[in-house]
Amino acid sequence: MSTICAVSTPPGVGGIAVIRISGEGALAAAGRVFFPFDSDKRVSNMPGYTCAYGEVRDKTGRTVDDAVLTVFRAPRSYTGEDVCEISCHGGVFVTRKILRLCIDAGCTPAMAGEFTKRAFLNGKLSLTQAEAVSDMLSAEGDLALSSASLARKGRLYAGIKAISDSLIKSLGELAAWVDYPEEDIPEVDEGELLLTLKDDRAALKKLLRDYDSGMIIKNGVDTVIAGKPNVGKSTLMNLLLGYERSIVTDIAGTTRDVIEESVRLGAVTLKISDTAGIHGTDDTVEKMGVALAKNRLAECRLIIAVFDISQPLDDEDTELLEYIASLDKKTVIVLNKTDRAQAVDKSGFLKYSDKIIAISASSGEGRDELSEMIETMFTPEDYNADSTVFANERQKLCAEKALGCIEDAIAALEAGLTLDAVTVTVDRAAEHLAELTGEKASEAVVNEVFSKFCVGK
Ligand code: GDP
Repeated sequence: MSTICAVSTPPGVGGIAVIRISGEGALAAAGRVFFPFDSDKRVSNMPGYTCAYGEVRDKTGRTVDDAVLTVFRAPRSYTGEDVCEISCHGGVFVTRKILRLCIDAGCTPAMAGEFTKRAFLNGKLSLTQAEAVSDMLSAEGDLALSSASLARKGRLYAGIKAISDSLIKSLGELAAWVDYPEEDIPEVDEGELLLTLKDDRAALKKLLRDYDSGMIIKNGVDTVIAGKPNVGKSTLMNLLLGYERSIVTDIAGTTRDVIEESVRLGAVTLKISDTAGIHGTDDTVEKMGVALAKNRLAECRLIIAVFDISQPLDDEDTELLEYIASLDKKTVIVLNKTDRAQAVDKSGFLKYSDKIIAISASSGEGRDELSEMIETMFTPEDYNADSTVFANERQKLCAEKALGCIEDAIAALEAGLTLDAVTVTVDRAAEHLAELTGEKASEAVVNEVFSKFCVGK
């Protein structure tokens, strides 16, 4: 395999930058660009886990930068190959220049995720762990980070592996019985097998249940701000975001499309969309917005329903309240414009939700109370930072397919079908799990996973 190099620190100016080289030729390449100040030291002779202080020189022998070289010897490195890391001063120009020198010294520029891909191919981490590395790089909140780092440590892998081991053990017994009927192999105890499969099913189901809460951790609480035009939805969104994002105007119905933004409230991240509101309209464009808004309401996790406290409730408001109540979701009712004379009373809303808060979106009064209310609605029982969750849809889909097969196997056993039929479905379940962890993932899947990484990782 070729020797690859890339800048592994984020682009931009920093205290230091790290250029990582990995592959058989890593030490040779590093030795062509990096020269230890200690003249007794030779890069090619440096043992693993040692550093040298020295300078990077270009081909004419001119000094480019002072740097520290760290050497990792295969297989004890991130990628499992020989790895050299040049830590230089973090200027963009210097870093690029050193990268260029490494390329001139025989390295190939690394592709996105190639270091981690090599680590996976060398058995340094499982596919689920690799995906967790990618999650850690993009984790938005503390909870997301701790969940991703648990997955990186292999907790998810261990969970799946336990189920898959159990399936394979059952398969072994089944296969022996099915394939060598003439041998004196103990008969498969169908009752026992059924119990084992039911345990496997329960374990997988739990992992899948955790997935939903995992999505909250990773992507934030899917939130919709609803309300008829001009009640102050955009203003509220801007207040939560802390800056001007959607256009606030006085003309009713201007927020036609759905805008999405993330906002952090303590440990909770909200993924908010500001919608066109739910109101009868003849305007086609607006109609589409309304349909979109209804869809979004039906699928989101948190609804922030906004009403103008300075106006009496009308049919549109009631329709929205009724619709939301019919959805039976976590809902906060925001009575906006408290800075104006009050035309409605809080008590009229109580039958729709007990989470009611009066604010002035334009002055910011009540923002903290609203944040606190929402935070308490989602922590801590709504997600458990300790639970190991699937990182993405790919993993979830594999688990769902495996679950389906286990269900089939259980049904086959209970219906008294032949053990052949049971064997086939258990085998398929095990295959899906092997695809999940990457033990049997196709090249296409592997490439897809690593394409989501950035260069240098
Ligand atoms: P949307 O159509 O629901 O998104 O409403 P906007 O956010 O565009 O607000 C409509 C109008 O109400 C704008 O003129 C806002 O400045 C005004 N507005 C929003 N919040 C408040 C508030 O708390 N107090 C007052 N007095 N006006 C507000």
